[in-house]
Amino acid sequence: MRNFNYSQPTEIRFGRTRVNEVGKVVAGFGKRCLLVTVPEFPALAPLFAKVKKLLSEANIEVAHFDQVQPNPTTDSITVGANLAKEFEAEVILGVGGGSSMDSAKAIAVETTHEGTSWDYLYFRDTQPTEKTLPIIAVTTTSGTGSQVTQVAVVTNTKERTKSAIYNSIIYPRVSIVDPELMLTVPEHVTASTGFDVFCHAFESLLHTNASPYTDLLGKEAIKLVVKNLPKLVKDLENIEARTKMAWADTLAGLCIANAGVTLPHGMGMAIGGMYPHVMHGEALAIVYPAFARFTYKWAIPQFAFVGRTLNPQLEKVSEEEAAEKSCEEIDAFLKKIGMWINLKEKQIPENEIPELAKASMVLPDYTNNPRVATSEEMLELVKESYSK
Ligand code: NAD
Repeated sequence: MRNFNYSQPTEIRFGRTRVNEVGKVVAGFGKRCLLVTVPEFPALAPLFAKVKKLLSEANIEVAHFDQVQPNPTTDSITVGANLAKEFEAEVILGVGGGSSMDSAKAIAVETTHEGTSWDYLYFRDTQPTEKTLPIIAVTTTSGTGSQVTQVAVVTNTKERTKSAIYNSIIYPRVSIVDPELMLTVPEHVTASTGFDVFCHAFESLLHTNASPYTDLLGKEAIKLVVKNLPKLVKDLENIEARTKMAWADTLAGLCIANAGVTLPHGMGMAIGGMYPHVMHGEALAIVYPAFARFTYKWAIPQFAFVGRTLNPQLEKVSEEEAAEKSCEEIDAFLKKIGMWINLKEKQIPENEIPELAKASMVLPDYTNNPRVATSEEMLELVKESYSK
């Protein structure tokens, strides 16, 4: 067995009704809390009101930054950080999907450091320090795994780029994963975020940093997604399936925190950076068929595992054949959950394909893929994802 490290500092509070603990949890870190969410709308308004009530009952003063947008921008993070400074926040509470939790993390950094969140990306010489405010996460999607990762994805609209702060100082101190909060997620968001879970788990199996620990968690997450996501998109209030997806999301988050993501995420981040109207899970669904066909021969056991999980009949064929057939099985799974989409349908200008291919090679994710794409191959992958 290879040597490996595994680390996870976040206290995870998993299960139905656990959101009721948010006041006590936050009180352990400060008396002045910045609550970070998307603008209020009917599905989430009762949750925001409940969280504020619970905080108030725990004698916590709250300022509410409610301007998070999907694929959060550095500009919105600066507005949130300015509010946190003015309010003298002691703790940052992100309530929502990945966009809200990542905004909370980036705000916790920007509030306590010079410059903006963009100055603390993973590759900068200057990194966030222990001055970073404590972060608490309450997740409402399944999901990005952000509730258990040291990652905050941010988009710079001027540069049309998406990148990330990656530092163990931004692991949430405590995460509440309450599946009841996910019952209101609409069908397409359920499918899109659920497919993100599949991608985190699968890419962690393929990653050069994969370990026996992350393999264990990743395989379980894949099995849970395959069994529960198709059921859930047809029956959004199925609490059992919501619970299983919330667990899969958390497991897959633990995988990316300790192994990482590969080629599809590098391409997906480039799509999200250049075209913020494309949801993260949609970007992944767009590139997966081309990625699978490009990669499977370089990772036969992992692709065979996915093929056989999606279609148990593939237990009867050789590992090589199961790996090859996994590409069609992934296509069928995407169709089943309503995620068979391409770049053209998302109104991506065809003449920007070369720029998108170039942008897909900025983050190091593609270099952690079992087969590393050349520039020409990346261009082909983007072309294949344009009108598949
Ligand atoms: P999101 O947070 O953008 O939410 C998507 C939509 O769903 C929003 O309109 C939101 O208001 C709505 N929503 C959320 N919860 C809801 C609920 N319970 N009921 C009804 N509507 C609800 O989507 P996401 O996919 O969770 O997060 C995407 C972001 O996370 C992207 O920026 C992505 O790059 C990032 N990400 C971060 C990590 C990480 O480790 N930090 C990992 C993967 C992705």
